[in-house]
Amino acid sequence: MKHQPSKIDFFRHSLGETEKAALAAALDSLFLTTGPQTRVFEETFAALFGARHCVGLSSCTAGLFLTLKGWGIGQGDKVIVPAMTFVATANAVLHTGAEVIFCDVDPRTGLIDLDQVADLLWRNRTIRAIIPVHLYGHMVDMKRLRAIADHYQVRILEDAAHCIEGERDGIKPSQLGDAAAFSFYATKNITCGDGGAVVTSDSELARYLDRGRLHGLTRSALERHTRYEHWDMDFPGYKANLTDLQAALLIPQLGTIPERLARREQIARRYEETFSEAGIAFPVTEPGTIHARHLFTIWPEPGFRDELLNRLQADGIGVAVNYRPVHLMNFYRRCYGYTEGMFPVAEEIGRRTLTLPLYPGLTDSEVTQVCNAVLRHIRQLRKK
Ligand SMILES: *Cc1c(COP(=O)(O)O)cnc(C)c1O
Repeated sequence: MKHQPSKIDFFRHSLGETEKAALAAALDSLFLTTGPQTRVFEETFAALFGARHCVGLSSCTAGLFLTLKGWGIGQGDKVIVPAMTFVATANAVLHTGAEVIFCDVDPRTGLIDLDQVADLLWRNRTIRAIIPVHLYGHMVDMKRLRAIADHYQVRILEDAAHCIEGERDGIKPSQLGDAAAFSFYATKNITCGDGGAVVTSDSELARYLDRGRLHGLTRSALERHTRYEHWDMDFPGYKANLTDLQAALLIPQLGTIPERLARREQIARRYEETFSEAGIAFPVTEPGTIHARHLFTIWPEPGFRDELLNRLQADGIGVAVNYRPVHLMNFYRRCYGYTEGMFPVAEEIGRRTLTLPLYPGLTDSEVTQVCNAVLRHIRQLRKK
């Protein structure tokens, strides 16, 4: 009899009774929008990184965009972005009016290639900033990137959407970059459905973000509530604030980061052991790194990916592709003339990469099912 495996979701959040109670309490309070809960969240989140400031925002994309705006980056400026990332990283640059300079990635890790970053900066003096992406939760070598950026006097904005828990050489996101943007989107390691934050020790930037997320008003709702005073508008800001309802959901999750990371690590280790034995490639984790284990991807042999993806989905196993490279998206090809061959490593990863389920609620037997299904299909594909 053929065993029919049960459905294994690509992702299931782990919001539970604690988060429900926190949300209910926030609903019973006066503030629904940016108020006291947001403050608590911001202070707690900044403390995780030993940073001076955290500004809660509606998304990581808003954080990337507003930070660039806060630094005065726009038309005529250039910003380096890895070709292997989610489209948001590059789109945030375009929204400011600046130009995206794509950069290829390291074939062992998928992280932005720092030799190429240095080369781009040497050849192009109008580059104002670099956005390294801590891809899948694996941190970029920030010590080396900081030295390169200082040499050319450009800013570093870390896309830390995958990397709340990560560390490298004892350094956390935001500690060597000028700012780090985080995401609390539905599938991220900490979530409130949608939301984001920027962590920075740059007080001028924090002030810009605080105002820029709420129309550029001189007084926030929280400040107006204490005692009404006429407010003014210093610049036409945006509407990109985190709300107290979102913050209420996020606060309890900050207390359980270590347990949830430990479970993710356990699952990732099982995947790594299983797939190394079978000769299936996956990104290397550099020594001295605490991997945030946001996504686990495998790099099966060229030509196998889409067939494997279809077979796993037919088995009821949720999978995804993170990512097909940004420069090959229809818009970037059409408007900027990018073609295949321009960033060969990102393209090779984009053709081969397949993301497997990885979240604290995944059971051991589900992990076994995923491993067995991958091994079975790869064996069959190799025989073909
Ligand atoms: C999810 C993600 C973003 C965007 O986050 P939002 O909060 O949805 O705006 C940016 N960069 C990377 C690498 C991501 O995975």
